[in-house]
Amino acid sequence: MAGPAENRSRSVGSTLPSPALRSFYDAIVIGAGHNGLVCAAYLARAGKSVLVLERRHVVGGACVTEELWPGFQVSVCAYVNSLFRPEIVRELELKRHGFQMLPRRPSSFTPFPDGRYLLLGPDADFNAAEIGKFSIRDAEAYPRYERWLEEIAGFIEPTLMQTPPDPWANTWQDLTGTLRLGWRFRGLGRQLGHRLVEILTAPARSILDRWFESEELKVTLATDAIIGTLASPSQPGTAYVLFHHVMGECEGVRGVWGYVQGGMGALTRALASAAQEHGAAILTQAEVARILVERDQARGVVLTDGREFRSSVVVSNADAHVTFLRLCEPQTLPEDFLEAVRRLDYSSASMKINLALAEAPSFTALPGNDRGQLHGTIHICPGFDYLERAFDDAKYGQPSQAPILEITVPSTVDATVAPPGRHIMSIFVQYAPYHLRQGNWDEIKEAFADRCLEIVGQYAPNVPRAVLHRQVLSPLDLEREFSLTGGNIFQGAMTLPQLFCFRPVQGYANYRTPIRGLYLCGAATHPGGGVMGACGYNAAREILRDGLC
Ligand SMILES: Cc1cc2nc3c(=O)[nH]c(=O)nc-3n(C[C@H](O)[C@H](O)[C@H](O)COP(=O)(O)OP(=O)(O)OC[C@H]3O[C@@H](n4cnc5c(N)ncnc54)[C@H](O)[C@@H]3O)c2cc1C
Repeated sequence: MAGPAENRSRSVGSTLPSPALRSFYDAIVIGAGHNGLVCAAYLARAGKSVLVLERRHVVGGACVTEELWPGFQVSVCAYVNSLFRPEIVRELELKRHGFQMLPRRPSSFTPFPDGRYLLLGPDADFNAAEIGKFSIRDAEAYPRYERWLEEIAGFIEPTLMQTPPDPWANTWQDLTGTLRLGWRFRGLGRQLGHRLVEILTAPARSILDRWFESEELKVTLATDAIIGTLASPSQPGTAYVLFHHVMGECEGVRGVWGYVQGGMGALTRALASAAQEHGAAILTQAEVARILVERDQARGVVLTDGREFRSSVVVSNADAHVTFLRLCEPQTLPEDFLEAVRRLDYSSASMKINLALAEAPSFTALPGNDRGQLHGTIHICPGFDYLERAFDDAKYGQPSQAPILEITVPSTVDATVAPPGRHIMSIFVQYAPYHLRQGNWDEIKEAFADRCLEIVGQYAPNVPRAVLHRQVLSPLDLEREFSLTGGNIFQGAMTLPQLFCFRPVQGYANYRTPIRGLYLCGAATHPGGGVMGACGYNAAREILRDGLC
């Protein structure tokens, strides 16, 4: 087995040709995360001169593929896609730029310590047979549950590509937007209206308990409710996180997550290529130190290496803390706005482990891969007590003694990401609280990763000895390497006080900021985290509407 995480990787697509640079642009985008690239591509497509500045050596932000070890193309952070908006794929012709989804059948595998297992996928009969092993009643209820989620999605989905109206502002646009939304809410009818409020506020567990009796099914579904959150599914607000994760599609099939061929970075490479084709310049290893503000208007940026670029507008793909507390001079912003930014909730408890394996994992509950069990997301979370105990540890500032693991082995579906016979295993770990009561992440992360691997070994005994290389990203690493404040994978918690017209802060959910000509376009804005592209798309629309560039 190899030692600790290796150093800076070779990154697929990192060798972007050096663009010819000018000193003035219509728009400068800080950050080449997928939202920054979407925004840049749409602005360039509208005929604007655009410069994208990315501090890392590679584009993509948290949606990136890096060749961590020769021949292993690793989706270092985000690992599966379903949320990315199909209209952006069409409009930017991303397939022509190399973007290709690979569906997963089945899409989920939960092995249990007693040797039983649950597989789920896009096929209704398959799901009925699998769930029926645990409960006939649940097998019958599951299609109704899916239809019910679709009804709610029918209300929420159209809002993803819209700018949230501010219910307390007096502009014509905000007033009509608020009224339209209220009217649509009214149109849901009493029952569905109530259900929508429940989705936005309730604990995921209470909803799952109402629908199902089988703990095996409920706990499999519940893991989606805690992804990226410092919460257990018994806590209010987690139903929305659950819902957020069933809102997408893969190749037209709703709620199904798939792999991006070549890893998640193939999507951001396609976006970068589309943006460049429309004339955008993209510069990597270009960290912005400060946003230039003159007479209350954004005028450009200064890089950490001293270079200065001027522009009519500046768009930040970084989160709100980075943008306003690090890149802006405090005197350029109103104190009440700064106070609201300081109060943002960035609590998080996620860690990522990426492994290169000498062979495919084999799970005791279902050895080999005959049923495609290695294709989907493998959930290590055998019951609600396990889950609640894992969260209890985090509540008291400790990594879970028995953490919840979401495992994927993309090389079983996508042969391009690992050498023949070798495999990549990605493990998304919860709970790894950013704030530790004792010690620090640099000291404990390798030991905690060992513990995670020990647990994987309890289900798939061949894995620990098959590890060739490993990379461990603690929440502190996510903050340092990916500029995610507090290690929060969504650029801020996805709870009701930080959603829709409250994201990132009340009064500024329309991608604008108190500084004229300064915009936000990342996951810090509506509709939030996940590889969706909607934040960047909506921001570009608002920027073009303002006509400052
Ligand atoms: C470990 C992990 C796993 C995840 N798994 C999934 C998943 O499987 N599926 C999914 O849909 N979502 C997943 N997510 C969430 C998703 O990846 C993010 O919500 C999404 O990628 C955010 O995109 P973004 O473009 O808004 O911002 P980011 O990806 O955060 O990009 C911001 C960019 O700005 C750059 N930047 C910051 N400051 C500066 C500066 N001063 N100068 C220049 N550049 C700067 C950063 O380097 C970064 O490239 C995961 C996230 C993480 C961290």
